Amino acid sequence: SLSEKLESAFKQLKGEGRISEINVATTIKEIRRALIDADVNYKIAKEFTDKVKDKALGEKVLTSISPGQLMVKIVKDELTDLMGGTEADFDISQRPTIVLIAGLQGSGKTTFSGKLANFLKTKKGKKPLLVAADIYRPAAINQLQVLGEQVKVPVYAEVENKNAVEIARNAVEHAKKEGHNVIIIDTAGRLAIDEEMMQEVANVKNAVNPHEVLFVVDSMTGQDAVNTAKSFNDRLDFTGVVLTKLDGDTRGGAALTIKYTVNKPIKFVSMGEKLDTLDTFYPERMAQRILGMGDITTLVERAQAQFDEAQAKKIEKKIRANKFDFEDFKEQLQQIKKMGNIKDLLGMIPGVGKAIKDIDISDDAFKGIEAMINSMTPFERSNPDAIDTNRRKRIAKGSGKDIAEVNAFMKQFDQMRQMMGQMNKLKGMGMPGMGMP
Ligand code: GDP
Ligand code: MG
Repeated sequence: SLSEKLESAFKQLKGEGRISEINVATTIKEIRRALIDADVNYKIAKEFTDKVKDKALGEKVLTSISPGQLMVKIVKDELTDLMGGTEADFDISQRPTIVLIAGLQGSGKTTFSGKLANFLKTKKGKKPLLVAADIYRPAAINQLQVLGEQVKVPVYAEVENKNAVEIARNAVEHAKKEGHNVIIIDTAGRLAIDEEMMQEVANVKNAVNPHEVLFVVDSMTGQDAVNTAKSFNDRLDFTGVVLTKLDGDTRGGAALTIKYTVNKPIKFVSMGEKLDTLDTFYPERMAQRILGMGDITTLVERAQAQFDEAQAKKIEKKIRANKFDFEDFKEQLQQIKKMGNIKDLLGMIPGVGKAIKDIDISDDAFKGIEAMINSMTPFERSNPDAIDTNRRKRIAKGSGKDIAEVNAFMKQFDQMRQMMGQMNKLKGMGMPGMGMP
């Protein structure tokens, strides 16, 4: 990754000197390369690295930090600043707050609308209304309705009406009557910039005076995203940007380029098709991602949210007392399955996505084992040693497995318990269990 390269480029320099012209010249090239790889526009990458160069030159290398690390820090701080420094405000204090969603077809507007409704409802305690103002494709209305059902947010639609402005106006009236405090208007997009589309969205904007106009852009479109952003901004003067599909391999350079070009804050990032994968945009995290340092912070936050600490403690206690049984094992499996989402998250670290893509931690992977445990009586689950041949035969029948599979599983479980017992004996080392950090 870039950060590793920077550190190795500076390896020769010892802790006390200053960063010199020679050192900087080579690393500046590396930085520029990395930015371009991450889809940052060439001109911007150049301007940026020139700035970093000025900053870095003559910077005194502290004894506690290596020149490479210092360089990484300078680059990261500059990137963070460029993308707005801190997270942008998303103002939902108006009653009702009107949010207009715009962008090209396929950029992820409708999906984002659903995610935003979910986010505002579950995280901000709001009562949103979704509005289907994409009048050209009947499927579009249906898509929003399905999303609305999933997040349990009502959808306002007028299937026969072909006038987006009217629909938006009516929706606002409807929302006021029904006491909705946020209105999210999903609009139609075209595959490319199109005058008619722009005019329509602009008309909707003028008609309902939204507090937020969010421009949704697919982060995988790279350089094209910039031109699109510019055209939309010229017409709509949007208040913020939503970057979608950041769950892919893209490094997110589009974030930097868009911010640089239209000077509008990025407000949200969308990282998957699941409806709870919407995050506020944090410039520092994106800077780390662009630098190939991975978005560790988001990752840890998500992992923590999914990991049930109380349960882990309970199981750890049982392991220590040599009382780990099938019931505990089943609970552990459940924890691991929840980590299916974590696999998506790990994919956000450049390079890791490819490495783990074949690892299966889906529900299916544990189906057989779960079936066997489910076929055990509560007595058997908490007394693994009491499971004799007759009981095994019954478990095999109940779970649709053959006796050999049950025997193999019993043996594995036994070995696992023996291993746990040995680990218990290693005093002071603690039991790592199966948990996440
Ligand atoms: P719209 O035409 O702008 O309304 O775009 P849609 O919301 O219909 O999304 C287009 C496609 O992109 C759909 O297949 C979505 O499931 C998918 N999509 C949307 N957001 C994301 C995302 O953050 N990550 C991924 N992987 N797919 C997404
Ligand atoms: Mg749509």
